[in-house]
Amino acid sequence: MTVRTRIAPSPTGDPHVGTAYVALFNYCFARKHGGHFILRIEDTDRARSTRASELMILEALRWLGLQWDEGPDVGGPRGPYRQSERGDIYRDYAQQLLAQGDAFRCFATADELDAMRRAQIARGETPRYDGRGLLLSAAEAEARAARGEPHVIRMKVPAEGVCRISDRLRGEIEIPWAQVDMQVLLKADGMPTYHLANVVDDHLMGITHVIRGEEWISSAPKHQLLYRYFGWAMPELCHLPLLRNPDHSKLSKRKNPTSINYYRDMGYLPEALLNYLGRMGWSMPDEREKFSLAEMLAAFDLDRVRPGGPVFDVEKLDWLNGRWIREDLDERAFADRVAAWAFNRERLAPAIPLIKDRIEKFTDIVPLAGFLLAGMPALADGAFAHKHLDRDDCVRILQFTSWRLDALADWRRDPLFAALSELAVALGYKLRDFTAPLYVAIAGTPAAPPLFDAMVVLGPDLVRARLRHALAHLGGASKKQAKQWQKELAELTAPEAGEE
Ligand code: GLU
Repeated sequence: MTVRTRIAPSPTGDPHVGTAYVALFNYCFARKHGGHFILRIEDTDRARSTRASELMILEALRWLGLQWDEGPDVGGPRGPYRQSERGDIYRDYAQQLLAQGDAFRCFATADELDAMRRAQIARGETPRYDGRGLLLSAAEAEARAARGEPHVIRMKVPAEGVCRISDRLRGEIEIPWAQVDMQVLLKADGMPTYHLANVVDDHLMGITHVIRGEEWISSAPKHQLLYRYFGWAMPELCHLPLLRNPDHSKLSKRKNPTSINYYRDMGYLPEALLNYLGRMGWSMPDEREKFSLAEMLAAFDLDRVRPGGPVFDVEKLDWLNGRWIREDLDERAFADRVAAWAFNRERLAPAIPLIKDRIEKFTDIVPLAGFLLAGMPALADGAFAHKHLDRDDCVRILQFTSWRLDALADWRRDPLFAALSELAVALGYKLRDFTAPLYVAIAGTPAAPPLFDAMVVLGPDLVRARLRHALAHLGGASKKQAKQWQKELAELTAPEAGEE
């Protein structure tokens, strides 16, 4: 058997360090066994998937040196490797399940399902699909479908008993069927959900080992059942531990930078980041902390992953990155790396319009625009002092801005300006006062190139990190206050569209 593993990111945002972490272990396992490592894009959520995100993910994994053997960019014998290009395949398999009686059509409208859930909650029950589609006879369901009535296709799930999942790291996991929903497999628009597409593709792409994050354990019963319905052998499952913030909560961009681009832009070496990710739940047999990808590969053993939640600690990464810089880059390599990092045309180009008209000589560049290349600005006591704003105003502005920007998908100047000027009005500040603490947080000084342009050049990751840094400098909001503000924010912003 040739080992085939895969990383299957959904291109709905920044390239996440969790994706790199899971990719690293899939890569090592495949290479160790002389197998293949595949990259598949899971873009069935058409509303949230973007090509820009896909490109960033591919670029970030390449930057780290985790090259795949088959994927949407390099092709391969089992393509296409982008789920949005495989629609007919999933529709055929959904039909097969219908024909076998393992799936059924459901014509319930969103309002009906809402009312169903509300009634369940009112009765103190956990809201779940109640199987109403099963009440229709197959003939009636076919007739309604033939008339073009909108509907979804759901999988049948046993009402009772326990599902047993075997996980390579955790042994047998028992999940009662009562906790498993009659999952939608094909949406009303004919697109598959993650579950159907993922199982069909893992099978057709010959995946032998599914190595993925532990958050997918609860999906495993549905997947196991689908494999059984189709009569296919199920790949071996291995759920890696979730990365955690130092406070042991799930790693999230609200507490820690999670985008690989942040680490690249801050000047971490890909070798160091990979090395650090390799230490998440895994260690070298001799426990040495610094090792290269080749060394990790030589010593790799998936069974030595410890499932306890590893902490992603940026300070530890800093220390490791420093060692890589000092010990592995001679002066020549150092110069090359620094040039590749930022001192090059491509990185300078977006900043030039911000700088050129504001200087008289090149030496003016550093005091004016040094913040574009710096990490976190040094904030003096009183840095946020302002004639119209007290400390609480500044915290409020920084906190709301940080939340608002977390939800902003389009990071160009105009949408940024629109979002923040709207927020200023909603919070009752003049734009000029509102932007004052943002200038300090982002540029370190109230006198800097235009704020919104500078934010575009810095990108979302660095801006977010600096807002967090400024909030920490000011002591942040109290828990009670943050709760109250979050409520206010929910009223200010319309809810984002989600998937199933
Ligand atoms: N598309 C899923 C993700 O975004 C893949 C999960 C899996 O590996 O099965 O992580």
